[in-house]
Amino acid sequence: MELENKVALVTGAGSGIGQAIALRLAEAGAHIIVNDLDAQSAKKTVAILNGQDACNMAIQADISDPEAVGSMVAEGVKRFKTIDILVNNAGIGGASIMVADLPPEAWDQAMAVNLKGAFNCCQAVIPLMQQCGWGKIVNIASLAASRMSKLGGADYTAAKYGLVGLSHHLAFELATHGINVNVICPGATLTPLVESKTTEGFRTEVAAQIPLNRWVTPEDIAEAALFLASDRAAMITGVVLGVDGGQLLGIASDYKEDLKRRTETSA
Ligand code: NAD
Repeated sequence: MELENKVALVTGAGSGIGQAIALRLAEAGAHIIVNDLDAQSAKKTVAILNGQDACNMAIQADISDPEAVGSMVAEGVKRFKTIDILVNNAGIGGASIMVADLPPEAWDQAMAVNLKGAFNCCQAVIPLMQQCGWGKIVNIASLAASRMSKLGGADYTAAKYGLVGLSHHLAFELATHGINVNVICPGATLTPLVESKTTEGFRTEVAAQIPLNRWVTPEDIAEAALFLASDRAAMITGVVLGVDGGQLLGIASDYKEDLKRRTETSA
């Protein structure tokens, strides 16, 4: 198995895309440290993983808090000795509010989780990877980082662009240590949460905007994450990989409709 004896920390792995990534990396032989803000959902993911005979652990931590991240990494190292793979997946969606109305606290929160959270985890894990001379960092940004978020606000878009910028710097700085850093930009991804919050009509409408004619699944993202976390991608670093079914190619929104929706949400 290609990730046998590797240890992977996946943030926000209690649900959605993060959970699918944790399952896929475990299938490939890695031991998984399942992080989530929500302790129960992290434990649930570990319960699913343990059915696959692997050795995994759940750690509740808020990635926006550097001290909590430090303790999480120390706990993981106590159990597994090191961390070879870091998937910065945890994120929160910003609300679709116009910039003029965006509460500064919402901006700070989007930055704290979506950008600084990844920074905190990288800072804590990089020394371990440098010691081994091998490491893979996979950052989950968004299609929003290619232009702008269709549903989220400027806070989300700016944070995800920031994550791409951070990844480019890290890829450059860490290459000589045998550490690859790459980004995945998911398009509209049908997680259980998205499914529970949307109508069938909306889902059909979104699928129609995707050239490959369906929503991305969490498993599609997980497959890309496994590739980037493996030595099949040994010579790939600093790359931004869109997994969006061609959604970016076809991006053409009804400007007036979109603006109207944003204005109404803001009001
Ligand atoms: P999700 O809400 O289902 O899962 C996110 C997980 O992160 C949750 O379990 C949540 O508890 C956890 N989390 C939130 N804040 C945290 C914190 N401070 N510390 C630790 N964990 C925290 O979301 P998802 O749709 O699976 O999204 C996963 C990632 O993919 C996010 O970064 C998101 O921005 C990105 N993304 C999602 C889509 C999509 O369409 N679903 C599209 C583009 C990008």
